[in-house]
Amino acid sequence: MANLESVHRRSIEQRDEFWQGEAKRVHWETPFEQVLDFTNPPFARWFVGGKTNLCYNAVDRWLDAGADEAALIWVSTEVDERKTYSRRELFDEVNATAAMLRAQGVGPGDRVLIYMPMIPSAVFAMLACARLGAIHSVVFGGFASVNLASRIDDAKPKVIFSADAGSRAGKVTPYKPLLDKAIELCEHPPQSVIIHDRGLHAFEPVAGRDVDYDGLRRAYWGQTVPVQWMESSDPSYVLYTSGTTGKPKGVQRDTGGYAVALASSMDYIFGGKAGETFLCTSDIGWVVGHSYIVYGPLIAGMATILYEGTPVRPDGGILWQLVQDYKVTVMFSAPTAIRVLKKQDPALLKKYDLSSLRALYMAGEPLDEPTAVWISEGLGKPIIDNYWQTETGWPILAAQPGIEPRPTKFGSPSFPVYGFDVRVIDEQTGQDLGANQKGVVAIVPPLPPGAMSTVWGDDTRFVDTYFSSVPGRQVYSTFDWGLVDGDGYWFILGRTDDVINVAGHRLGTREIEESVNSHAAVAESAVVGVADSLKGQVAVAFAVLKQPEAYESDDAKSALEREVMKVVDSQLGAVARPSRILFVNALPKTRSGKVLRRAIVAVCEGRDPGDLTTIEDPSTLQQLKETL
Ligand code: AMP
Repeated sequence: MANLESVHRRSIEQRDEFWQGEAKRVHWETPFEQVLDFTNPPFARWFVGGKTNLCYNAVDRWLDAGADEAALIWVSTEVDERKTYSRRELFDEVNATAAMLRAQGVGPGDRVLIYMPMIPSAVFAMLACARLGAIHSVVFGGFASVNLASRIDDAKPKVIFSADAGSRAGKVTPYKPLLDKAIELCEHPPQSVIIHDRGLHAFEPVAGRDVDYDGLRRAYWGQTVPVQWMESSDPSYVLYTSGTTGKPKGVQRDTGGYAVALASSMDYIFGGKAGETFLCTSDIGWVVGHSYIVYGPLIAGMATILYEGTPVRPDGGILWQLVQDYKVTVMFSAPTAIRVLKKQDPALLKKYDLSSLRALYMAGEPLDEPTAVWISEGLGKPIIDNYWQTETGWPILAAQPGIEPRPTKFGSPSFPVYGFDVRVIDEQTGQDLGANQKGVVAIVPPLPPGAMSTVWGDDTRFVDTYFSSVPGRQVYSTFDWGLVDGDGYWFILGRTDDVINVAGHRLGTREIEESVNSHAAVAESAVVGVADSLKGQVAVAFAVLKQPEAYESDDAKSALEREVMKVVDSQLGAVARPSRILFVNALPKTRSGKVLRRAIVAVCEGRDPGDLTTIEDPSTLQQLKETL
């Protein structure tokens, strides 16, 4: 068994040799001439001269190994349907979709914007783009028109692929009106729109622009579209992420580096094997969905589950039922989903046969210790916290059981992943920090294969945003605080913009949240810094209770507030004590589960909450206002 540190060291110090070996995991139609071209830092070009194709690696390559094996398993608890596509069926569907896109004039380098619910045709569209060498840009289904319009204008897609509607928790969200409005608002409308009519919401097609997916599918069924072999560093997709300015920031991903990074991660980090089933509960609109619903498992020859539904419908056992029904070996979810389950009957964790499951991976936000302990004890399975960003495309920090199994520590995403030369540095001096010292988590370039290659259409923004914040050093800033403990375990302490300053003391809101959450009555919390004329800022906590009915009266609430404050006092000191602890039914979150801190702060300070496109449930913000 290899040693984690030595593999990591080799991936940095003998970089070319290391990645030369990893590149063998994927098919190269034309071998690369050079592992890395880093002559123009911080831009890295991986596997120069090599030609490959993501769709070929995900679909075609696995046909000979068993065309009848499952590839894509769709489960919808929204429309109550399940369907399994074999590798052959996936191949046929992807080819039909590629043929229809080609007939709409889509070719290599063209953009296709995908605005879809979690249904199989969305995955076919992504893979079909990859097959044609077109660049897909998936925009989370249901995003508001204004934001969709700004993404259309930035990506300038030739075709948009969409559906009549999505459904969430039984409620239909019509997509078509949002899309029509967006196209009206934008300056670069697409030539055509392919609409998958699911029969959820009636609509009028726009003449000369909208085409019916089912009709096209019938027309092109049976056609095979040749794979377009792409230069390794040709873009495969653009995925927008929120930046500090209003202009959307398109994270551009390459082709060959991404394929290699995902293939290696499936082995070293996730331990997924061909023929097994992977369940990732993210959405194809997020990076986790791109990497670990679509490309990662398929490139590794695994079946992947595409789940349309919430974790609590029809009941809080649905995810575990999927594990049982499809013999899932690797599962990937987010702390927010698990916190939702904490409010459900714990017996549901024991109701299904989970013997196939080896581990539950979690990412997207800090995994607080109480949640980690709760789910780990409930399932009796290892919980593997892993830390990454849309920009990196795959984990920066994670346990890597495929290299060397090591015990994990609750609250820590473990160790640096091979390829990432990650450091904790002092944001003032730019120097590396030692054990137990808190600093900014930064990556010394080159970023490894699979990480973003630039900001779509804006190289300057790539350099200015990510590589210019640390004095005297060109390093990639994650904008997260972190530290490494004496045993080499890493801890992420929140975003650098989540720091508050109370009477001259710098406090991470994450630490206060952890402390609030450690009270037995609290399910989760959000702590924000609110302007205060006396102290600069004060911490205000919003807590969601496990059993709100037990604290209905004002007296019970104040007693609990005092108790929680005492807990914070004892753990972090009185300086960190929130000035108020308010009890709410739910926290305002994005649809990917991130707490909308800026909006909460704005509401607390009586300002306009600003851009709320990504909010999951606007009523949470309303309730917050009322509680204040
Ligand atoms: P996104 O690009 O939307 O996926 O957000 C990335 C950010 O989510 C990171 O910069 C972190 O702030 C946070 N994040 C992701 N995974 C973790 C994790 N395992 N622990 C703590 N924070 C995380």
